[in-house]
Amino acid sequence: MARRCLSVHEVHDKMRRWTVLVQVVEKSHVLTSNGSPPIRFQRLVLTDSEGTMVSAVIYGNDIRYFANLLQPFKRYYITGGTVKKQDAKYKISDYHFSWVIHNKTLVEEYVEPNPPMLPCTFEFTKFEDLFRFADTENVQSLQAIVITAFATKEQNNGSTTRDFIVMNEEKKPMLLTLWNEFEQNQGTQLANSIGNANVIIGMKLKITTFNYLSLTTKLGSGLLINPPTSEANALKEWYNANKEKEEIGELIKQMAYKDSSKLLPPSSTNEMISVANALNTLKDVKTAWITGKTSLTPGQQKFWFETCENCQKAINVDVGWVMRCPSCKEESKVVAKTRIGITVDDGTGSINTVIFGLDAEKFIPFTALQFWEAHNEELNFSTELASAIGKHSIVCFIRYYEADYQGQKEGKYNIVKAYTIEESVHISMAITTAETNEKIPDLHATVLQSAKKNEFFSPSTKKLLDTIAESSATANKVPPLVTTTKRTLVFGTVPSEIGLNFAEANTSTLLPTNAPGSPLKK
Ligand SMILES: [Zn+2]
Repeated sequence: MARRCLSVHEVHDKMRRWTVLVQVVEKSHVLTSNGSPPIRFQRLVLTDSEGTMVSAVIYGNDIRYFANLLQPFKRYYITGGTVKKQDAKYKISDYHFSWVIHNKTLVEEYVEPNPPMLPCTFEFTKFEDLFRFADTENVQSLQAIVITAFATKEQNNGSTTRDFIVMNEEKKPMLLTLWNEFEQNQGTQLANSIGNANVIIGMKLKITTFNYLSLTTKLGSGLLINPPTSEANALKEWYNANKEKEEIGELIKQMAYKDSSKLLPPSSTNEMISVANALNTLKDVKTAWITGKTSLTPGQQKFWFETCENCQKAINVDVGWVMRCPSCKEESKVVAKTRIGITVDDGTGSINTVIFGLDAEKFIPFTALQFWEAHNEELNFSTELASAIGKHSIVCFIRYYEADYQGQKEGKYNIVKAYTIEESVHISMAITTAETNEKIPDLHATVLQSAKKNEFFSPSTKKLLDTIAESSATANKVPPLVTTTKRTLVFGTVPSEIGLNFAEANTSTLLPTNAPGSPLKK
């Protein structure tokens, strides 16, 4: 009997026999369901020549049966799969069914030298819009060129990860972390052919505030390498035409993928929500841009904590120790990092939050090392700190997370990225007049003078502090290029789940190149 091919749309659950010529868009690695007993399965996304996408699944022992078939981008005739109503939640197109491919299904390769372009269309999120989904379960799909591969890391929970730098025409390089099977399969392939400027389509990636803003795979993500689409070809052409240009090289050299002011530039005013609104919605939306006047949250004793200098993970080891960091696995120094509880109030409400590292130090005339030293000397300068912080208004990207506190979940807010009002206006409006340029240092000078940094220290402490300030200035400044390369190599990964619970990991040691430095710290 002559075989008649149907389109995906013509196939429904009342039909006994059908044949469709499909092109494989994605074949997942083998996944295991959470149920009891757990079930092994493999997920597929297929499309027909009309571009209708259908999801299909292969279970248990049938996975091996189709191991060499249904390879990405190739075409196959599929005859006699089981058709099921698709739960609306999992629909990937306007087709209402999904297919189960089993050992009674006939799968025949459509032999051709090269598969055609994928007829389906993808919806991608722009890099500049990714921040809106940070830390939520709202997964996003995007297309990017893979530029750099870092070394594979063994995580403490037995997982393996590998970080890549990805970028598209928007020129906003970002970290993408591949986990486990993604690391072993696509990660190895991408790393082994890193010079090819591979194009990836990342499907259902999670956006996190780890490293300020980064991408990570999760269960259910998909990763297509060099998909045959005109968009992928256009991106590759763009990259090949531009990669020699200084701008692209500079972005990588400057480590723009971990530069908070590039990843989270100050928000335009229409992104900003009121503090009252943030308090109502952050539990669901997880992150928001807010603005308001700042004040020091009362009752704090300590304004610093110990972190790994390399990966910024908090650790209970004395400052100055050199250790093999349990988190990034690198030999690294334990350094002090500023952490200050502040309250942001915009008149509609006030929110208690925590600001870290160099972002915090923009608002105050102290460095982390000075806090550390003062703490050791049992000096308290909350008054001076309160006065300095009280002089400012802030524009900040804030995140909500839940911490375990005595067996109870407690909602907390941390600042991922902060700008002074002056910086925010300056950067977002990109005003380049000389007058505006002069404003920022002037304002800082005023704050610094009025805080009178050293007056309340004893002479011996002052001397010590001056020495520390000198060395801390060295530690804080943008590393020279030689160091940059080394830091790129040693840059480590904290499992994003862990990273999410430690906002400390969000702050980098890099001083944004466009942030005004404090004269006292030089
Ligand atoms: Zn570390």
